[in-house]
This record gives sequence, C-alpha cells and structure tokens, in this order.
Amino acid sequence: MAVDPLIELRDVNKWFGELHVLRDINLTVGRGEVVVVIGPSGSGKSTLCRAINRLEVIQSGEIRLDGQLLPEEGKALAKLRADVGMVFQSFNLFAHKTVLQNVSLGQVKARGRKKEEADRRSRELLDRVGLADQAPKYPAQLSGGQQQRVAIARALAMNPKVMLFDEPTSALDPEMISEVLDVMQQLAREGMTMVVVTHEMGFARSAANRVAFMDDGRIVEDRTPEGFFTSPQSDRAKDFLSKIL
Ligand code: ADP
Ligand code: MG
Repeated sequence: MAVDPLIELRDVNKWFGELHVLRDINLTVGRGEVVVVIGPSGSGKSTLCRAINRLEVIQSGEIRLDGQLLPEEGKALAKLRADVGMVFQSFNLFAHKTVLQNVSLGQVKARGRKKEEADRRSRELLDRVGLADQAPKYPAQLSGGQQQRVAIARALAMNPKVMLFDEPTSALDPEMISEVLDVMQQLAREGMTMVVVTHEMGFARSAANRVAFMDDGRIVEDRTPEGFFTSPQSDRAKDFLSKIL
C-alpha cells in the first residue's frame, strides 16, 4: 500500500509542556488516499492534523509532504499552508467579507493570483459545492452547512495537494451533515488525498481507504475500514466502537 507517499510521519512526538500528546506516530498517506482518523476526545487527532501543516511544531521525528520536510518559516511555510488545505469544525470564515471574497482572498495572498483570476476560480469552486448563487452574501446569512461548504471551496481554490478535515460536521445540525459529507465524498472519488478526523462512521466505511484509530497520543490501529469495524484488534478500539456504533 501507499506506493506513492504524499504525507509521511516518522516517529513523531509532541508535548504540550509535560503532556505527551503525540507518541511515536508513524503514518503514511499515499497520493489519492483517504485516511479517516478516529479516537476518543483528547487522543491527539487535532494536534496530528495541525502538525501536518505546521500549526503545531513537533519536538522530535519527521514530517514530509511530497518528499520534503515541512518548512519552518517564511514564504516556504506560507506555500505549505496553501498546499495543505484545512477545514475546521468552526468554519473560520471572515464575517465581514462576502462569500466570494472569502474564497478569493487566500488565492491572491498566497498564490499570487490576480483578483479577476481568483474570482473566476472561486466561482468555479462555489459552483462545485452547490453555492454558486451565494457568492455576494455574508457568512452570517448562510446556514452552517453552507458556511462549511464555503470553507471547503476556499481551501480547494488554492489547489492543495492534500485536504485535512478536523471534525468538519461536528458543529452542524443533523440535517446539514450530509450536504457537507456529500461534497467530501465527491472529492474523495475525484482522487483528492484526504486526512479526515470524523465520528461519521458511514463516511469512514464508504470513503476511507484506511482508518487510523488514535488513543492517548498513539495510533493504535491503522487498517482498512472493513477490518477495523468488523474486527477491531485492540481493547481500546473495541470499547470506543461499542460506544459510538
Ligand atoms: P483530540 O482532537 O483527539 O480531541 P487534541 O489533539 O485536541 O485531541 O488534544 C490532545 C491533548 O492535547 C489533549 O489532552 C488536549 O487537552 C491537549 N492540548 C491540545 N492543545 C493544547 C494546547 N494548545 N496547549 C496545551 N494542551 C493542549
Ligand atoms: Mg479535536
């Protein structure tokens, strides 16, 4: 598996002060692969995602994107952040910018595109996530599901190499969850490399190539969804699944 690694974490460790939150993490995500990360609250899932685009600095080990160690600062770091799209639970849109401006801004700043070109790309992406007609509106005028789709469009507009999703549907009302998952499913089918932290087991079963189960800072299991859901190996995973399924 993973003959063409796009993301590689080798013996990664991270502490917050005394708290050891990532413990000897080894994870490879191949180009075009979808890896779903699940595990109890506090197990380190968000920190893992944030480490991949260097929102968190690790204390030991290596993280590579497309063969390159993550850059530490400056322009190279800005480029990394554009290459690694991230979608959070809280949509993090600019409240005082329109939907179109939200999607265009980063393209101009981090990709150096002209405004017209960025706007054209933004409209393309908004159309793709089913929000073509929402371009002139402000985030507060949209539902949570629509705002999250704007956030996805914004990340995609940068032409990222990989998309990280950290519990993208956890803040949404139930009826809006599927409209966001549908967009993610579509992306997966189109071959986007994705790391997805989610409790949506339906998504994990249908879209994931692999499930990585985290507990207490470690990846305890890393296997196919079928294998994981039908015969979890560790007591921790069995216990976790018995609570959520
Ligand atoms: P998860 O996303 O799986 O719920 P996190 O990665 O958010 O877990 O957190 C892992 C551990 O690190 C938790 O114990 C959390 O309280 C702690 N933690 C997360 N961020 C910080 C921070 N900025 N400072 C100190 N501790 C943190
Ligand atoms: Mg989290």
